[in-house]
Amino acid sequence: MKKLVAGNWKMNKTNGESYLLSREIIAGLTEKEFLKCDVVLCPPFTSLASVHSVIKESEVRLGAQNMHYKEDGAFTGEISGRMLVASGCDYVILGHSERRQFFYETDHLINLKIKKAISDKLIPIICVGETLEQRESGVYEKVVDEQVTLCLKEITKDDIEKILIAYEPVWAIGTGKTATPEQANSMHKKIREALANLFGEEISSKIRILYGGSVNDKNAKELFSQSDIYGGLIGGASLKPESFINIIKNT
Ligand code: PEP
Repeated sequence: MKKLVAGNWKMNKTNGESYLLSREIIAGLTEKEFLKCDVVLCPPFTSLASVHSVIKESEVRLGAQNMHYKEDGAFTGEISGRMLVASGCDYVILGHSERRQFFYETDHLINLKIKKAISDKLIPIICVGETLEQRESGVYEKVVDEQVTLCLKEITKDDIEKILIAYEPVWAIGTGKTATPEQANSMHKKIREALANLFGEEISSKIRILYGGSVNDKNAKELFSQSDIYGGLIGGASLKPESFINIIKNT
């Protein structure tokens, strides 16, 4: 399976800054990288149009960081899947731990968003992962299994192949602490087992599971060489063109 690297710019970069950053990223990538790796940029909503204007003739794809689960209507401050598609998005990150932590998103809400994203023809990048407390108390495998099961409730076998999962231990996000390649790979295997329980082995084997949590150009190679890590969701390092390009080159 081809790997995928997505940059989550979070609440960083104005419209103009995003234009420049995406130009720098594109300039550092060649056909060689795209043969082995899909690349997705997820800027803030306000930068989708400018980033799209830069990448639209390239192999780089556009993603958003969130969406609402309704078609349209009285939801002040929200953005619909249809708006994202019209802005050039192919992907949307859903259930990021910062959305869960700061905006109280639950697995149930994330499940509604995933279903809507799929029906809008967006590819959801679904984030799951345990907190430090959950890891230390030994319940982390159960927690992640439950997140996968609840987030994917009522998703059909036909639709499941269109999704991506990002395993992002909360204790590794933006902290500089990375899961060891072995820790990450073993959780990816657990997630694949959870997917197999829900959808069968064959379908489960086709789903790309990304790792996220303080990935940088120093640790990417080892992480991506693990048997069940098919790329990464990159936060901080995706804002530095050189680092992000090197991460992609290390897939
Ligand atoms: C993320 O936000 O998805 C992430 C993994 O962040 P960072 O790479 O900064 O840890």
